[in-house]
Amino acid sequence: MINSGSSSIKYELFDLDDESVRTSGEAQRIGERESSLLHRWNDAQGSAEELTYNEPLADHAAAFDAITTALRESGSMQELDSLAGIGHRVVHGGEQFKTPTEIDHDVVEAIRAVCVLAPLHNPANLTGIEVALELFPEVPQVAVFDTAFHHSIPAHAYRYAVPASWYREHQVRRYGFHGTSHAWVAHEAAKYLQQPAAALNLISLHLGNGASAAAIRAGRCVDTSMGLTPLEGLIMGTRSGDIDPAILFHVSKATGADIEELESTLNRESGLKGICGVNDMREIQRLAESGDADAQLAIDMYCYRIKKYIGAYYAALGHVDALIFTAGIGENAALIRQQACEGLENLGISIDDEKNASDHHDGTFEIQTDSGPVKLLVIPANEELEIARQTAACIKGK
Ligand code: ADP
Repeated sequence: MINSGSSSIKYELFDLDDESVRTSGEAQRIGERESSLLHRWNDAQGSAEELTYNEPLADHAAAFDAITTALRESGSMQELDSLAGIGHRVVHGGEQFKTPTEIDHDVVEAIRAVCVLAPLHNPANLTGIEVALELFPEVPQVAVFDTAFHHSIPAHAYRYAVPASWYREHQVRRYGFHGTSHAWVAHEAAKYLQQPAAALNLISLHLGNGASAAAIRAGRCVDTSMGLTPLEGLIMGTRSGDIDPAILFHVSKATGADIEELESTLNRESGLKGICGVNDMREIQRLAESGDADAQLAIDMYCYRIKKYIGAYYAALGHVDALIFTAGIGENAALIRQQACEGLENLGISIDDEKNASDHHDGTFEIQTDSGPVKLLVIPANEELEIARQTAACIKGK
């Protein structure tokens, strides 16, 4: 699995017979002076090893070179020789890509064509694909799209109430992101609850640096909070989530800010950071505990927005079997889970404070009260394994 971002490349090598991770790592700050590669593997005795390479990685090709060297030095090269496939995370698949797709020249060009919809992400994903295709020409490679899980969303939920020509001519619609993560937790919830996915209605909350909610009916996504881009919906680390679009006109007129400036402000200087100056939830909780009013407001706004989406998706689904929390904040921040669910007992959502506060879980755990009709599940994110599974299924299904 390769996740190639604008300045980082994450990779994980899985043995899908037992779904174990054989090696993994991350090249960071590619193109900067301080770039580095952290490489982890298990030695012949099975004990965990790691190495950090602090060499300048001028570009993605240099990073892949360093990763290959690390694989060779850690004795993982033989495993690469028997590589069955490579799955690439691709953020935007536009309207065309509804499922994981084996990569050939036409697919590369089609991914390039949707760069206009994800200019911050797709070009970096493509760079990773192109370098990997060169390095491993014999290995089947599959694009797994963040948007794919959301293709079941009906038109009344994915269209915006703007001129129809914007949709027809400029593909303006809701696509949604974090699809691989929402798909993963939906599978894991079904497994945990020992029911077929088709029998479950779920609300999934992915709360990491980026954040999104998804409404899932009978295993298929019917609505999600991110839109044309990952900017819409919940409050995130540095992204605003939902705002009145007229705010942009007002601020532009008042300050002279142009579109690029406004786009950058909403993506990088808003969200939790905009409200209290900090985007890391752990730090915000510390500040709030020490009496910082802005940090407390950021938490209150963050949880209130989540609660509104829970209510909206409850209404969209009509009946909810389980509410799922995942990703850094969803998995670890008991206070956020508690505050987001506060007062929802009439919807059958009722948190058990003790179960919610207990940590050291390995895998999925539940936090609803014994009589709570809606299961409240905390499920560790694992987009990497989901990408590997989808890649294998795509190659097998050829
Ligand atoms: P990414 O979207 O980059 O993968 P993560 O899923 O790792 O991000 O989530 C990062 C967020 O999770 C950060 O805001 C971080 O502060 C928060 N987080 C991680 N651990 C905790 C914790 N124990 N308590 C509160 N927040 C946490």
